[in-house]
Amino acid sequence: MPKFIFITGGVLSGLGKGTVAASIAKLLQFRGLSVSMIKCDPYLNVDAGTMNPIEHGENFVCEEVWHFAPVPNVVFRIAEVDQDFGTYERFTGEIVHPSHNITSGQIYLTVILKERYGEYLGKTVQIIPHVTNEIKRRILLVAEEGKDVIIVEIGGTVGDIEGMPFLEAVRQLRHELPPNDTLLIHVTYVPYLKIIGQQKTKPTQHSVQRLLQAGLLPDIIVARSEAPLSNEARAKIALFSGLKTNAVISAPDCDVVYELPLLFEKQGLGDLLLEKLNLKPRINPQKNIEEWRIIVNKFKHFDTQVNIAMVGKYTRIRDSYISIIEALKHAGAHEGVGINAIFIDAEELDQTQLENFDGILLTPGFGKRATEGMILAARIALIKRIPFLGICFGAQLGAIAFAREVMGWAKANSTEIDPNTPYPVVDLLPSQKDVKAKGGTMRLGGMKIRILKGTKLWLAYNREYVVERFRHRYHIIKKYAEKMREKGFIVNAVDLENNIAGFEIEWHPFFIGVQFHPEFKSRPFAPSPPYRAFIRAVRKRKEESKKT
Ligand code: GLN
Repeated sequence: MPKFIFITGGVLSGLGKGTVAASIAKLLQFRGLSVSMIKCDPYLNVDAGTMNPIEHGENFVCEEVWHFAPVPNVVFRIAEVDQDFGTYERFTGEIVHPSHNITSGQIYLTVILKERYGEYLGKTVQIIPHVTNEIKRRILLVAEEGKDVIIVEIGGTVGDIEGMPFLEAVRQLRHELPPNDTLLIHVTYVPYLKIIGQQKTKPTQHSVQRLLQAGLLPDIIVARSEAPLSNEARAKIALFSGLKTNAVISAPDCDVVYELPLLFEKQGLGDLLLEKLNLKPRINPQKNIEEWRIIVNKFKHFDTQVNIAMVGKYTRIRDSYISIIEALKHAGAHEGVGINAIFIDAEELDQTQLENFDGILLTPGFGKRATEGMILAARIALIKRIPFLGICFGAQLGAIAFAREVMGWAKANSTEIDPNTPYPVVDLLPSQKDVKAKGGTMRLGGMKIRILKGTKLWLAYNREYVVERFRHRYHIIKKYAEKMREKGFIVNAVDLENNIAGFEIEWHPFFIGVQFHPEFKSRPFAPSPPYRAFIRAVRKRKEESKKT
């Protein structure tokens, strides 16, 4: 049986519990231990795929599609998961399976369908034990995968009504498993009151009390705060939670998120985790820690800064495109370039402002709103020769900009935006024509694609076959691409059925659109090739414009 680390959150949401969980996984990896991550999300959606990114952040897409079958003959496809999975994959370098995102929606759906199938015949079906048993069953299923440690992050904040069954399941597991096999880490927030110049621990005290009410005693408290935790605050938190001061860990804001495992290491958290779980390191962690430090340093030192306009529609919160921002930063770190990614709301586009950017990235998205602004942004990149990277919807709209500007097809569009367009350059995938349900029905997950030799994309990947992740219903239509070929529109990637997976413009220094989402596979130690090539082009243009 593996060991379990449960992670709960208090005081407020958005504390970066996912980053804390991923950093803890990293500390274990430093010591040669294998780790698996689980995220429990208390919302009733079956998966994150149907949520607007402004509601809940980015929809992360997994490599694999999970066929979730709560009862025989009922199957749902799940590959869209909580954005924390992106953080887990970027930190650990491991691919996480979508079944590791356990939502209340999945749990209740399973319990209710099982009831109809007669699984609980004669019984009153209740939150305790039926819902909690289902939660435990799902967690223990992951335990069978054979990893040393399972980290289970409980979404939301302690005290939320929706999260109660998950906390109760954790309480039961802690009770049922041997004492040294589980650990509870509570992540809280310690605000700084400027007027009195002090970090305040009262919210943490209250949230520990809420945890105690749920029958849970924390073993370690991770305190999120702007600046490092003062000794005074640390001692106070230790005192009222019955912990030693070395079990109160400071997690201050850091410019480079990947530095958090190093800050934890400095406070002795890595050794403390092993001690409390009665585990022995498999290897001396020093070499791995040093290697990680070298990677982190790449994010801190660069010889030039570039401004990238991220044009799109979900620009109100940074989290909606978190994997894209991270992929840009990874590319920048390895190219010696500091990235200044600035969100531009496509509904309020200012042409002259956009022309001053070093690069333009057109973001993924759905639906009609803001699309004319996005097409205009692509047009500016096209005619001003600004390096351009279009991701999924951004690629589709980039192709439409080309169709309008270069081909003169003034009303070219995607049928997603204008079903009656005379030039449906982008149209539904044939397999999507009769699909009515919206959840989990897109073309999803990792798929093999072929990069065509002689293209800029080929130079980026330097490989013929790669697996990248998809999430779409529409695609660029070959018939139009062939006509556009005459004016320099080059298909640079295809899937195994020969559908267009990417394009570039022959006469433009760097104008690439990809139907897939390379950002989901970018890692701080291995940047995504298209992003890296984009940043290289951005840097080159900036250096050349300085000379002239
Ligand atoms: N809305 C487009 C489609 O469904 C693009 C999706 C996306 O950007 N992920 O194909």
